[in-house]
Amino acid sequence: MDFSLSDEETQVRDWVRTFVRKEIAPLEQEVLRRERAHQPGLTADELRELQLKAKESGFWGVQTPEEYGGMGLGAVMTALLEAELGRTFVPFRFGGYADNILFYANDEQKRRYLLPTIAGERRSCFAISEPGAGSDARAIRATARRDGDDWVINGEKTFITNGNEADFAMVFATTDEGVTCFLADRADGWRSEPIDTMGQWGPAALVFEDVRVPSANVLGEVGKGFDLAMKWIGRGRYLLPARALGSCERLVEMAMEHARTRVTFGAPIADRQAIQWMIADSAVEIEALRWLVLHAAWLVDRGADSRHAQSIAKLYGGVKANEIVDRVLQVHGGMGYTRELPVERWYRELRLLRIYEGTDEIQRRTIARNLLKGHASVSGTLG
Ligand SMILES: Cc1cc2nc3c(=O)[nH]c(=O)nc-3n(C[C@H](O)[C@H](O)[C@H](O)COP(=O)(O)OP(=O)(O)OC[C@H]3O[C@@H](n4cnc5c(N)ncnc54)[C@H](O)[C@@H]3O)c2cc1C
Repeated sequence: MDFSLSDEETQVRDWVRTFVRKEIAPLEQEVLRRERAHQPGLTADELRELQLKAKESGFWGVQTPEEYGGMGLGAVMTALLEAELGRTFVPFRFGGYADNILFYANDEQKRRYLLPTIAGERRSCFAISEPGAGSDARAIRATARRDGDDWVINGEKTFITNGNEADFAMVFATTDEGVTCFLADRADGWRSEPIDTMGQWGPAALVFEDVRVPSANVLGEVGKGFDLAMKWIGRGRYLLPARALGSCERLVEMAMEHARTRVTFGAPIADRQAIQWMIADSAVEIEALRWLVLHAAWLVDRGADSRHAQSIAKLYGGVKANEIVDRVLQVHGGMGYTRELPVERWYRELRLLRIYEGTDEIQRRTIARNLLKGHASVSGTLG
C-alpha cells in the first residue's frame, strides 16, 4: 500500500500552498476588518483578480473537463488542493467552475448557461430546499405547471447559497411527471431576500410567483429532476471535509504557537498535560480525517461506489472539525473568544459543516442503512 504522493500531486499541492501563502493569506487581516464592518471579505472584482492571477499559472476550472478549458483534475488532487485552500479563511476559490449538473444541459443551454458560468460571466444557484423541506428534499412543494410552451413556477426556496447574487437558478419544482429542474433567469421574475446567519455565508430565500419559464429551459428530462439534485448534492461530499482538514491543521498550529509562548504559573501552558492532550487528540483526529477524505477521493477516482466513504468523511469531518476548533479556542483562553483572532470566525464557519449538504444525522442515517442493508461492510472497502 502506497501512501505517498506522486510527483505531479506534490507539484500541484506545493504550487497551491505557495499561492495561498503569497497571495491569499496576506489578505487575512483586511478580510477580518471588512467582515467585522459587515462588508464582504473580498469584493467580486478582487476575487476575480485573484482567480485570473491563478489562471496565469494554469489554475482554472480545477475539476472542469479539459474540453471546456479546465484542468480536469481528479478527486485526490482536488482534495489535496482544497485542504491547502482551507488553511486560510479568506473566501477564495479557483475560477472556471460550473455546477456539475449544468454539464447535462443541451447544446443551446450549454451556450447560454454552462459556458458563461465557467467563464465567470454568469452566476448560478442551486435551489431545492424550502421552508418545509430540507433533509427531506422529496417533500418540496414548489410547483411548475405547463402553460402552452411555457412552465409557470410557484413556490418559495430557502437557504440558497449565492441566491442573492445569482442571475439564474437551477430550481426544482414538482410537476405531474415528478420533480423537474428548471433554469430560471432572475429576469424571468423571481426575487431573493438575504438570510442573516452566524457565519459569513449569506444564503437567500427565493420567491417564485407565477414565474414563466420556456420549456427549452428544462434541465435534463421532465420528471427526472430529483436524480439531478442528488448528483449535485453528491458531487463531492469529500470536498467539504477536505477544506475543513486544512482549516484544522492551521488552527492546531495556531494553538501550539500560543501554547509555547503563553506562560501561566511560571511555565508555558504547552508544558501542561491538559493542553498537550487537546493538541494530541486534535492531531490524531486530523490524521484520521486526512485518510478518510483521501480514501473517499481515491474511490471516486477509481470510479467505485464512493457514497458510503464520502458520508463517513463528511460526518467525521463535521463533528471533529467542530471539536478541534473548540479546543483551539479553549487553548487561546479569552483571546480565542475575541474578534481580534480568526478563531471565533472559524468556529462559526465550521459549524455549518454539520448542517449543509446532508446534516450529521442524515449522514448517520445513510451510513447505518448501507451497513444494515448489506451495501457496505464494517470491514471497509478492503473486505
Ligand atoms: C448556509 C446554508 C447554505 C445552504 N445552501 C443551500 C443551497 O445552496 N441550496 C439548497 O437547496 N439548500 C441549501 N441549504 C439548505 C440545507 O441543505 C438544509 O438546511 C439542510 O439539508 C437541513 O435541512 P433543514 O434546515 O430543513 O433541517 P431539517 O431537515 O428540518 O432538520 C432539522 C434537524 O432534524 C434532523 N433530522 C431530519 N430528518 C431526520 C431523520 N430522518 N432522522 C434523524 N434526524 C433527522 C436534522 O439532522 C436536523 O438536526 C443551505 C443551508 C445553510 C444553513
